[in-house]
Amino acid sequence: MPETEHDLATMTWEDAGDRFLVADGVVVPTGSTEQHSVHLPLSTDSLRADHLSAALVEAAPDHDLALLRAPTLPYGYSEHHMAFPGTVTLSQDTYKRALIDVGASLAEHGAERVVFLNCHGGNTEALALARDRLNRDHDTTAHVVHWTDHGRDELEEHFGDGWGHAGDHETSFVELVREDLVKADEKQPQNAKDLPETTSWTYFSDVTELGGLGDPTNSDPEFMAQVVEHTTERILEALNEDIENGW
Ligand SMILES: [Zn+2]
Repeated sequence: MPETEHDLATMTWEDAGDRFLVADGVVVPTGSTEQHSVHLPLSTDSLRADHLSAALVEAAPDHDLALLRAPTLPYGYSEHHMAFPGTVTLSQDTYKRALIDVGASLAEHGAERVVFLNCHGGNTEALALARDRLNRDHDTTAHVVHWTDHGRDELEEHFGDGWGHAGDHETSFVELVREDLVKADEKQPQNAKDLPETTSWTYFSDVTELGGLGDPTNSDPEFMAQVVEHTTERILEALNEDIENGW
């Protein structure tokens, strides 16, 4: 797990107190512990949250932003992956409350902003509710940044629109930061069923046998390194713009 000089986890409470006084916000990385097909580890989303949040807080000073970083929340909402061993899910309600409690704690110490950096789609709804609650009831401004949304255009241009869970994008990323955790011999294109048009499917095991979508054999870690750099810049620019506009 990458360490930065902006990590609350490695500071004393006195140092943290000093840093809260001058920080523009605290980044809370949100991941998951869930299956990522037969070639990627259960920690894939949490690994992404760890590394991408480190990149974000380290690049922030170049954008005149001072960001602190809270530890990654390694559990999220993953009910739709529970058919696969090792997946751990919080209930929607527990997860929402955990997000609010983390944000409220940071607000109590003076965090001007709480920036959730999310790396798992299943977390989206609970994050939206928690953000609204924090904004209404606590003395802080909560933001939710879905990392992939800010890299989507670049990823689609390179990988096509068929990328998905444990596909070329996520495989490229884990190969970039923890190649030792990728089972290269197990990478294979996934045969997902056509998704229904008039209802939403519930479990990943309903649409894919191995748990993945897309084609991990197209992975490209060098390209991913560029996407990380560009996306980090875009997120910091977007954050600055929101702050300038009074959000
Ligand atoms: Zn994932």
